Amino acid sequence: MQIQRTIKYDADRVRGFAEEIMSLAGCDRLKSCIQCGTCSGTCPLSIYMDYTPRQVMALVRADFKHEVLRSHTIWLCASCYACTVDCPREIRITDIMYALKQRAIQEGIYPRRFPIPVLAREFSAMARRMGRITETLLVLRLFLKSDWRALLRSWRMGLGLLRTGRFSLKPERIQRREELAAMLSPVNGQSVSPPANREDA
Ligand code: SF4
Ligand code: SF4
Repeated sequence: MQIQRTIKYDADRVRGFAEEIMSLAGCDRLKSCIQCGTCSGTCPLSIYMDYTPRQVMALVRADFKHEVLRSHTIWLCASCYACTVDCPREIRITDIMYALKQRAIQEGIYPRRFPIPVLAREFSAMARRMGRITETLLVLRLFLKSDWRALLRSWRMGLGLLRTGRFSLKPERIQRREELAAMLSPVNGQSVSPPANREDA
């Protein structure tokens, strides 16, 4: 996946971003990265990424917050931990990728119409609202918010799933959702909360 490279300036940096990420559990060793590139060489998906894992580590350390949060890389990471196992400085790269994904959803900064973050956001919002996931509605929302043409391509399969009862249009929800909301309230500002102000890339 190629992105259009642009020159980055000091003014593009968001001071304190690196420190914030490094203060999270499991992310503190990032400061010892020697930019050896082992993680990029190990990563089975780096050829599809816009920035390699090594570049993501460098961008985070240099406070290029928007560059990182808008990248496809953090969403393409399959959490296989190969990079983490091989890193000579024992940096938990996979955990850093998780922290960046969580941050991107929190702040509503992610690649516009890229299905993976859209799915993550819609999934967590539905789980928080209903306590259950209704697959049909989730897929519909995903298509509408990422690529509505996929709906046209998949209508035949969807109809078949509805006919055979594998999919239902009836929303599923749990009882006593207020208790779920109370349980989730301590983390509402973190991973489960849909962003208040979405800033698409
Ligand atoms: S393998 Fe570790 S030290 Fe080397 S570039 Fe990646 S994160 Fe940095
Ligand atoms: S955990 Fe993610 S970044 Fe690391 S090797 Fe696997 S896919 Fe690549």
